[in-house]
Amino acid sequence: MLSDTHFYFNKAADILGLPQIIRKILLTPQRSVKVEIAIESCAGELMYYTGYRVQHNNARGPMKGGLRFHPEMNEDHASALAGLMTWKTAVVDIPFGGAKGGIDCDPKTMSDKDLSLVTRLFVAQMKDVIGPTIDIPAPDVNTNAKVMGWIMDEYSKFEGFSPAVVTGKPLHLFGSEGREEATGRGVMLTLREALKDQGKTFSEITVAIQGFGNVGSHAARLIAEHGACIVAVADHTGGVSNPDGLDVVALNEWVSEKGGVSGFVGGMAFEGSEIITWDADVLIPAALQDVITEENAHDVKAKIVVEAANAPTTPSADAILLERGILVLPDILANAGGVTVSYFEWTQNIQQFRWVLDRINDELEKVMSKAYRSVCDVAEEKKVDLRTAAFILAIRRVGQAALARTHLDGSIFM
Ligand code: NAD
Repeated sequence: MLSDTHFYFNKAADILGLPQIIRKILLTPQRSVKVEIAIESCAGELMYYTGYRVQHNNARGPMKGGLRFHPEMNEDHASALAGLMTWKTAVVDIPFGGAKGGIDCDPKTMSDKDLSLVTRLFVAQMKDVIGPTIDIPAPDVNTNAKVMGWIMDEYSKFEGFSPAVVTGKPLHLFGSEGREEATGRGVMLTLREALKDQGKTFSEITVAIQGFGNVGSHAARLIAEHGACIVAVADHTGGVSNPDGLDVVALNEWVSEKGGVSGFVGGMAFEGSEIITWDADVLIPAALQDVITEENAHDVKAKIVVEAANAPTTPSADAILLERGILVLPDILANAGGVTVSYFEWTQNIQQFRWVLDRINDELEKVMSKAYRSVCDVAEEKKVDLRTAAFILAIRRVGQAALARTHLDGSIFM
């Protein structure tokens, strides 16, 4: 994954003509911290985990990025995702840098008490390198509002009341209205802008979605509410399709109850992996990385791919999609709605003032539309695809901010 991010970075850096030394500075994380976490579990077993936090860049503001609790979490993963966060926060022009971290544990096999203890030991050892003006964690795969609440509580024991140390907190613990659906809403808004450019509306399109978790389910609901026909959805349990459109509200209820889309009575079952090549106008990968590959990219039928997941397209697949004239709305633009509303949450925490939902959604809409336009402008200026344009825009913003802190000339980034 790290090499994929570097590939896209270097493609943009080539167009900007950046010297190797500047590339090295921009690609290398500023700090990487690894901590040992050993606990005696509720079951009386000694358990051992490793926690990671990679802080990639803070030229544009405090570092920002999720915490992933997953057995396969490692420094390489954290590094790749930390870099993506730097470019993502720059594309949507919010005053943050990028970071990512996590613990190599599996919350699905742990009691809440053990998970809370592991999280608290992680925070206790990371407290000097995170903070409202240093690095602000958020939820990612297998972490949620409850975990973010524990982080705030533990950090505040050392540093005093500090809600702004973490975002994605529960609403009753200084969380923000609209945060939960923000990534899905951003996906819908990015697609809306792209459709507008093609002279189309939601009511004219069919959509296939991989993943029906936080991002996929909210994106599906909002896109359906705007009139699109969601013809197929797949998750880790299988796939369901309906050429007349799935009832997304009923599917949501089904998934809440059964844990997956499989068996949903309002559609026909299919093998989940077929979703990538489903016959629909738009494909939204909203689950895992590396799902559009060299093997299946030739068979993608959608005309637009919206990358709701992080890094769902491998570089070789990306080249095939580009050659086939399929429009890819890249992850660092399309799924930036979540970190944008995290920024609003942080702002509210610092202001000690709550924003109403309408204000959150209005501001998110402005940020996403502006980011989409800025990426399109660079694509036009440099005659490149939207992913390369998004990286060029991000590298320019980060590079110029970094050099503006020194006496060096920032014109190299034009
Ligand atoms: P989630 O855990 O809520 O949902 C993940 C979904 O993926 C589930 O529906 C699950 O069934 C499905 N899935 C898992 N394995 C699968 C498989 N093998 N085949 C098909 N589907 C499978 O996670 P999420 O928060 O919705 O995140 C999804 C993606 O979006 C991730 O790549 C994440 O990094 C990215 N993302 C999330 C946010 C956010 O705010 N949550 C923000 C930006 C990017």
